[in-house]
This record gives sequence, structure tokens and C-alpha cells, in this order.
Amino acid sequence: MQTIAHWLDGKPFAGSSTATAPVTNPATGVVTGQVALASAADVRTVVEAAAAAFPAWRDASLAKRTQVLFRFRELLNERKEELAAIITSEHGKVLADAMGEVSRGLEIVEFACGIPHLLKGGYTENASTKVDIFSVRQALGPVAIISPFNFPAMVPMWFFPVAIAAGNTVVLKPSEKDPSSSLWMAELWQEAGLPAGVFNVVQGDKVAVDELLENPAIKAISFVGSTPIAKYVYVNGTAHGKRVQALGGAKNHMVVLPDADLDLAADAAVNAGFGSAGERCMAVSALVAVGSIADDLVARIAERAKTIRTGDGTRGTDMGPLVTEAHRDKVAAYIAAGESAGATVVLDGRTVKADGADDGFWLGPTILDHVGTEMSVYTDEIFGPVLSVVRVESYDEALALINANPYGNGTALFTNDGGAARRFHNEVEVGMVGINVPIPVPMAYYSFGGWKNSLFGDSHAHGTDGVHFFTRTKAVTTRWLDPSHGGLNLGFPQNH
Ligand code: NAD
Repeated sequence: MQTIAHWLDGKPFAGSSTATAPVTNPATGVVTGQVALASAADVRTVVEAAAAAFPAWRDASLAKRTQVLFRFRELLNERKEELAAIITSEHGKVLADAMGEVSRGLEIVEFACGIPHLLKGGYTENASTKVDIFSVRQALGPVAIISPFNFPAMVPMWFFPVAIAAGNTVVLKPSEKDPSSSLWMAELWQEAGLPAGVFNVVQGDKVAVDELLENPAIKAISFVGSTPIAKYVYVNGTAHGKRVQALGGAKNHMVVLPDADLDLAADAAVNAGFGSAGERCMAVSALVAVGSIADDLVARIAERAKTIRTGDGTRGTDMGPLVTEAHRDKVAAYIAAGESAGATVVLDGRTVKADGADDGFWLGPTILDHVGTEMSVYTDEIFGPVLSVVRVESYDEALALINANPYGNGTALFTNDGGAARRFHNEVEVGMVGINVPIPVPMAYYSFGGWKNSLFGDSHAHGTDGVHFFTRTKAVTTRWLDPSHGGLNLGFPQNH
């Protein structure tokens, strides 16, 4: 059985720890490999390599750095099917969706190719007499990226293209559930000409994360995962003097107003609720139907959801399995809890006939109607193909529901009323908002991130926030002597 190792100084690294975790193909239930779980000493070895590579990479010219990025972009674009196949084999999402994931990651690489422009500072001539000031953005040093299982390629690519382009070195700690994409990307960097030690991978669990949080050589941490772990990483990383951006969980509401195009809304609810089996932080999990349209809307959604083919993602199906058996069982238990709390099961994914192996971790699309806000299917992030319909009487009630929620990642409003749309994007306390767009993931040149319990820290991912997160500014004040200079003055510097 293959062992999925770490990546150090441009080659695989076995590490000294003998601890491992199984890696499974969710569509077959077969264990396909075992991933190494780093000890703290293994992490230290990898961090040392990243620290050693930093001075030369920081000082590499922007021309050299961008050449490597452009090569990485070309290689990734040419070979993205390979990466998508790896994602499907360990995560379970269907191949077309895995290709979508890689394409969205590619967009961040393309954004980072423009780093010379993004790093430009300011210059002020004659701030004081014959005194000029300029500002520069400089790299931080070795930075760590800790990523979740649900986007094993795209989420790391939210961060590492910008971090590397800006002159930092990187230690990526992927999810132990689907670790192979990280090594494939590491090899691609190598092929693109990135110097050894600039991009490293450490496989592992809490032990590895804790060492990254405490290791003084690591200057910044970009974390993505569930809210409790995001909070833990933020609190402990900042306590160790690091810059931390920790993106957490979500409960995304899609509000449908009575004047909306109900067919468009029904299509969107199905795509955003069941794409990637609901294992997206931007998935719609609460559908808020406003007023008298609820019966009609639920019927249209159910009609569409029934046509979804659940099965092995390599067979051209629409929706794959859940990531692990334990996660599938947990999501199924939420459905049971919703049912016994009084929700109406309009479509029951527990009885799905999947196009795939008997031992795959299957759960079909599920729709629960008349969900109450006290039910666990509503209060908790389920992270599965379960759409909970909450019925309200007014726009104000819908808005209050969203703003009272502890999460604030994404939300969407479906309407044909421009005034209502404007009120919504102005009033809603959520970081990413869609108007007739169900999954409003911003483009690479904007920044991705939620509010409230969906993000701890000040910076969102990529875009301007990403460039700022991975650099620190320096303001330089200069005066070149000329014959007019002279004299002592012990007062605080003032401008003349
Ligand atoms: P997770 O929190 O279980 O794991 C995330 C990372 O933390 C992994 O690398 C994991 O190894 C590590 N980890 C797990 N337990 C840990 C512990 N006790 N101490 C330290 N590190 C630990 O999340 P997941 O199940 O892999 O991913 C799904 C979650 O990620 C969902 O909550 C989803 O909403 C969230 N997510 C959020 C975003 C976003 O942008 N806000 C994007 C993707 C996923």
C-alpha cells in the first residue's frame, strides 16, 4: 500500500514518525493508501528547510519569481485533468466539479502572476524640504497553510500563489483525508523551476498543527476548516506572535422573495445545495422562502432534485459520495433528528440507489421542509446534501434570521426587485453576497472571506487582502545632503 509522505527541499520526505492514517476512496470504501502523520520533530525539519530557502527567494528578482509562476500556471493548465482525478479519488466529488475546483485555483495563480504591480509601493517627493518618502512591501518569511478536506487543491491555492509570489516560503499542511493533491502540486512547482525549500508539505494532524502554531520561524498562518478549530488556531497562533487568518464554518441562507423567477431560484437551490454533496463552505443549506410562494418553490426544487444521479464521480454522475463513512452517518443522523423534531421529509437521501460500489459512502439529495430555527438541522453546519426550508412571512423576517446567525460566510437573495436587492446587500451581515447568484465566490482579484464565526482575523483570502496578509510594509524617509543642510535640532521631527 502506498504511503503518502511529506515534501521537503524539492523531494519526498519520509519523516521519523511511524504514525499514519488511512486514506479511502469514498466511492468504493476501499483504503487506497496511508498518509504519514508528522511528529513535532518532522515539522521542525520541514520548517527549517523553509527558513533556509527564504533569504534567497526573498531576494530573487520579481522577473525571476514571475517566470516561475507563469511556468506553474502553464503546467497546471495543461495537466489539470490529472489533479482533478486525484481529487475525485480521495474526496469523492465528481470529476467535472473537481475540474471546476482546479480552475478556480488556477485563477489565483494567474492573479499572482501580476505580483510586480501588486507589490508597488508609494513615493512622495519633498514631503519635507528635500526629504522624500517611499513605502515598500516585503515578504514575511516562512508561512504555513493549513487546509480542509473539501477543496484539497483550491483552498491551498487561495494562499500559496500569492505567498510565494510575494517572496515568502511555504509549509502546507493539507487535510489527512485527501493528502495526495498537495504532493502533485509540489512536484509541479519543482518542474516549474521553483527553488527547493520554497514550497514544502507536511502531512499530519493536530500534532503537526500545534508545532506550526508554536514554531517561532513560522511568521503567518492561513487556516481553513471548521469554526472550533479556526478559533483555536487563531487564538494560539496570535498568542505566539504570528499573523493569522482563520476561515471557519458556515450556514448559508438563500432567500427567495415572492417576485423572484421561481425556476431560476429552484435551479440555483439545487445546484448550490447539492453540488459537491453539500461539502462546500459556500453551499446553500438553509432555503428561506418568503410568503405564499413556499409550496410552489419546494415542489419545483423537489422535482429537480429527484433527477440528480448520485454515484461514482468517475462515471459522469451529478453528485458523489460523502468524504468518509463516519461523516455520511453523521449527516444521516441530522436528517433523522430533523424528522423527529417535526420537519417534513420531502426527499430522503438515505434511501438513494447510487450508481457505484456497495461500500461507497452514499447519501442522496435530501429536502426538509417546515424546518424550525430551533432544530439541529438549522442551527448546525451539516456539511452534506441536505436543504432545509424555513418559511417566513416577510423580507424583514428573512434578514433578521440571517443577521442573528452566528455564521456569516455567504448568502444569496433571489428577486427581480432592484430596491430589495440593494437593501439586502447593504443590510446583511455576511461577507459574501449573491444577488440571483447562489454561490457568490469572489474572483481572484477580490478577496474571499466571511464575517462573524466564519473568519477570525482581519484579512480575507487572495485579492488585495491576500497581498497585504503575506507582506509587511516599510516606510523609508530619505534625505540626501546638499549644501543647505546643517544645524542641530533636538525637537521631534517636523516637516517644513
Ligand atoms: P477540520 O476543521 O476538521 O480540519 C481542517 C484542518 O484542521 C485540517 O488540516 C485538519 O487536519 C486540522 N485539524 C483537525 N482537527 C484539529 C485539531 N483538533 N487541532 C488542530 N488542527 C486540527 O475541517 P474539515 O472537516 O477538513 O473541513 C470542513 C470544514 O471547513 C467545514 O466547517 C467548512 O465550512 C470549513 N471550510 C471553510 C471554508 C471557508 O472559506 N470559510 C472553506 C472550506 C471549508
